[in-house]
Amino acid sequence: MPTAYITHPSFLLHDMGPYHPECPDRLSAIGDRLISAGLDPYLRHYSAPAATAEQLGRVHSRDYIALIEAEAPTDGLHFLDPDTAMNAHSLGAARRAAGAVVLATELVLSGECRNAFCAVRPPGHHAERDRAMGFCLFNNVAVGAAHALAQGLERVAIVDFDVHHGNGTEVMFTDDPRVLMISTFQHPLYPYSGLDNTAPNMVNIPLAAGTGGKGFRDAVATHWMPALERHRPAMIFISAGFDAHREDPLAGLKLVEDDYAWVTREMIGAAARYAKNRIVSTLEGGYSLSALGRSAAEHVRELIAA
Ligand SMILES: [Zn+2]
Repeated sequence: MPTAYITHPSFLLHDMGPYHPECPDRLSAIGDRLISAGLDPYLRHYSAPAATAEQLGRVHSRDYIALIEAEAPTDGLHFLDPDTAMNAHSLGAARRAAGAVVLATELVLSGECRNAFCAVRPPGHHAERDRAMGFCLFNNVAVGAAHALAQGLERVAIVDFDVHHGNGTEVMFTDDPRVLMISTFQHPLYPYSGLDNTAPNMVNIPLAAGTGGKGFRDAVATHWMPALERHRPAMIFISAGFDAHREDPLAGLKLVEDDYAWVTREMIGAAARYAKNRIVSTLEGGYSLSALGRSAAEHVRELIAA
């Protein structure tokens, strides 16, 4: 069974201004690297559909969805917070970014694809039930996880290795025993959340600036793997941010491509044990274009080899 690669041209039209690090070139960097690394022919390409109001409404309020629709400009930029803006294409891109993860979930659940990578913008894991923030409009991975639960899966896991804590995903699923969230993130760093782990289904591990592959791998082995063993998810979702790379300009962790390949293999192993190999991965951050392309390609290489 192939690995699905789900993207859409609208993701290149969502643009928050000429100096914004969350830029359309990020997706070109990934796509170009997959081609130059010889991986592209091994992927089955799909076009991302727009998520429906029902699918978005499983994790976002009806009022919030209406607000985002009302705030979408017909031209120019409209800022929702100091970091997060919409242009005329952003609403369509955001719907399709969430819809990509829904499609990925269906492809993997039906057995049409073994696993999937969603190359999407805007990212999602900072978006809360009622709030856009941190470059995110809709919480794509949460929409996908909620879709899997709606299809009858009893338990899923969301794995977040973005350098920033996935505050939106956390607030959506805190105390939902069907969803295990496991993450590592740099602390202190935006959005300054995730330290409390007040709910038993949240395993969020802060890492100090300067932490490299060894510290990251120790956190995964010590905290993530036992939690996965206890939870036995039927599907693993990955919030795949690559901004913990040592070359990333927005943060201070020191991961390299091999660390992303390693953690992907760990998740493939867990998915083989508990989840019938089901993995749906979706892009979050990653702002050094070169490091993003190289890291995402190694992540996808492992998904193809799973
Ligand atoms: Zn990030």
